[in-house]
Amino acid sequence: MSKAYEQLTTYLERAQAFQTAMVLFEWDNETLAPKEAGPYTSRMIGAISGEYYRVITDKEFKRFIEACKKDKSLSETEAAIVREAGEELEKLDCIPAEEYREFAQLCSESTRVWAKARKEKDFDAFVPTLKKVLDYQKRFASYRAKEGQKLYNVMLDTYEKGFDMETLDKFFAVLKEQLVPFLKKLMDSGVSIDDSFLTGDYPEEKQEEIGKYLAEYVGFDFNKGVMAVSAHPFTTNLHNHDVRITTAYNNHVDDSIFSVIHESGHGIYEMGIPDELTQTLVGQGTSMGMHESQSRFFENIIGRSQAFWKPVYPKLQEVFPGQLGDVSLEQFVKGINKVTPSLIRTQADEMTYSLHVLIRYEIEKMLVEEDLDVEKLPEVWADKYEEYLGVRPKDVAEGVLQDIHWSQGSFGYFPSYALGSAFGAQLYTYMKKHMDFEGLLETGKAGIRVIREFLRENIHQYGKLKTSRQILKDVTGEDFNPQYYVDYLVEKYSNVYGI
Ligand code: ZN
Repeated sequence: MSKAYEQLTTYLERAQAFQTAMVLFEWDNETLAPKEAGPYTSRMIGAISGEYYRVITDKEFKRFIEACKKDKSLSETEAAIVREAGEELEKLDCIPAEEYREFAQLCSESTRVWAKARKEKDFDAFVPTLKKVLDYQKRFASYRAKEGQKLYNVMLDTYEKGFDMETLDKFFAVLKEQLVPFLKKLMDSGVSIDDSFLTGDYPEEKQEEIGKYLAEYVGFDFNKGVMAVSAHPFTTNLHNHDVRITTAYNNHVDDSIFSVIHESGHGIYEMGIPDELTQTLVGQGTSMGMHESQSRFFENIIGRSQAFWKPVYPKLQEVFPGQLGDVSLEQFVKGINKVTPSLIRTQADEMTYSLHVLIRYEIEKMLVEEDLDVEKLPEVWADKYEEYLGVRPKDVAEGVLQDIHWSQGSFGYFPSYALGSAFGAQLYTYMKKHMDFEGLLETGKAGIRVIREFLRENIHQYGKLKTSRQILKDVTGEDFNPQYYVDYLVEKYSNVYGI
């Protein structure tokens, strides 16, 4: 190890420590912290994030990165860590400290303003804050932009390297041209699917029991992970030996079942990072999109298939004899795959999900690149829902105010949800050709282990050493190709609906 690299590492360890503390506070805020803790704790988080900023923008830190970049003796992993450090520095260094602090402050307020506006269904109350957040993000993007780079491309790049508007326009065009008419065909088919048995008296402790059972069944390791309850399910991790997932319970049993399998998919990705990489800048899932590909792979491709439920369904019936005792496996699998165009993204079915994302992508582009007036958002939103999904929100709570992302300044994040589904379908198409995918699922845990091992070996173990695009190419031998996703959906749902 060279001297400069060693010195760089001490800075990175400090940065990592601050980052870990912030993650832990955020986890605590969402799960166990008492109601009134928020504003008091966020002062501490502010201070820690300031320290993090100071480490990353320290002159010495910059000097060590420069020295390391010239060092030819670094290993591949070390060079990747230097590259990531350089990118992190570039991202922060171009923003004046004062503005960075102001924005962090604004964000902690803006999510509260958003939550209140949503509760009161009052979009106007959120407009001034949203305008400010958007202005900051545009300004920050302009600081970061390379010569001639469009602002929205800068934002997109933060979440998914190599996927700019040119690639995404093509991707979403494929969805729009093929999935919108297919959805209409499904809805006009006259086929009705009964899923009423999924709603009812499902006691929370029973849901928790089956949730933990399923998480473990798909491969979430409870020696390295925990599961808690939060308003919205999410996954976070301190390192590969401490991965945390949450879920929420209501009277729709499928909500918690599939959110647990989804978050387990995120968790399994993080648990699959090797010890050599964890707690370094490359020791995490490579991108938001690849992360979603893993969670949605477990949730939908595995978790909503008949082959998956064949060995497990008796267990579910055993836990809920009164609710599911008379429901056959076939009825259950049809029920969990029912397509219902709806207004809320997080409750959308697999088939319509990416259309919710398409809408957000088009609107973000308008906001960032075409200066769409923020006041017009509710109407633009409602029109697009009507056009693509055939439903229209009756208020802003089930419309434009439903997602937290914009209040946090996360513009450019949404596309990764749809990209993840498409990555997953491309991987699945490849895997099906090379292994007896359904047969493996039917054999239960041992079979899932084979599938999980494939994902670990080809995706998880690389952390950030490869980009999502590289991974796709290395695994499937092909660049990203959205057609696999559309084909997968059309084939699956033609079967479910018998058309
Ligand atoms: Zn997810």
